[in-house]
Amino acid sequence: MKQFKLSVIAVSSLVLLAACSNQQTVEQANQAKLQQQVAMGLIWTQQSGEYAALTHQAFNSAKVAFDHAKAKKGKKKAVVVDLDETMLDNSAYTGWQIQSGQDFSPKTWTKWVDARQSALIPGAVEFSNYVNANGGTVFFVSNRRDDVEKAGTVDDMKRLGFTGVNEKTLLLKKDKSNKSVRFKQVEDMGYDIVLFVGDNLNDFGDATYKKSNAERRDFVAKNSKAFGKKFIMLPNTQYGDWEGGLDKGYFKGDSQNKLDIRAKAIHAWDGK
Ligand SMILES: [Mg+2]
Repeated sequence: MKQFKLSVIAVSSLVLLAACSNQQTVEQANQAKLQQQVAMGLIWTQQSGEYAALTHQAFNSAKVAFDHAKAKKGKKKAVVVDLDETMLDNSAYTGWQIQSGQDFSPKTWTKWVDARQSALIPGAVEFSNYVNANGGTVFFVSNRRDDVEKAGTVDDMKRLGFTGVNEKTLLLKKDKSNKSVRFKQVEDMGYDIVLFVGDNLNDFGDATYKKSNAERRDFVAKNSKAFGKKFIMLPNTQYGDWEGGLDKGYFKGDSQNKLDIRAKAIHAWDGK
């Protein structure tokens, strides 16, 4: 009888293990599907002339806007730029995610930063160095982590030719990802921020922070005249806070939940 009980336990454990590993396999397959959906956008970013044309267009507009902008009386002229997918091209990290079917994680991202293989967004370094050479100061406000990602970031920026990268101008994330505290810090140093450059609406202030896409679109509609003048937007097909803006529960469920939310977000013709 005892032996029978033991074998029942052994069989149940095996069934449970099999179910768990099956669940894991399903989750892995769904995660791979999520990553695969990013592929076409990434290929466009890495291969098309159109992507580089758009980034040049953004930086050409940024230069005109900077030249025309005047700082408030008694203030120094500043430009705030984001780093990732604004100044620095991390598309090879996304390429790794697609090929390995891996979700973003802080651990693998830090490893990527540490590998010092970030590339340049076309037009970025010329614009940044132009500002620094023509009466302005560029502040690099990024959510790369100050504690473990600073050394790799500074090395890459220097290798890529950025001027004016120092303790005062490189403001990485210490605690909060909301950047408005660091924008205030720049203003408190006697600067007037005449221009913001980013690939994420949250790079322009806290109005869109943790907001839905309906609210984010509303912010853009209300500020439509500021784009190309006060706010310069870079394209990013790989990731962004708009993704969480798809649904409140987007990051709370499993990969199937994300696939479902993405599928529901598509506006489509009925084919009739
Ligand atoms: Mg960015």
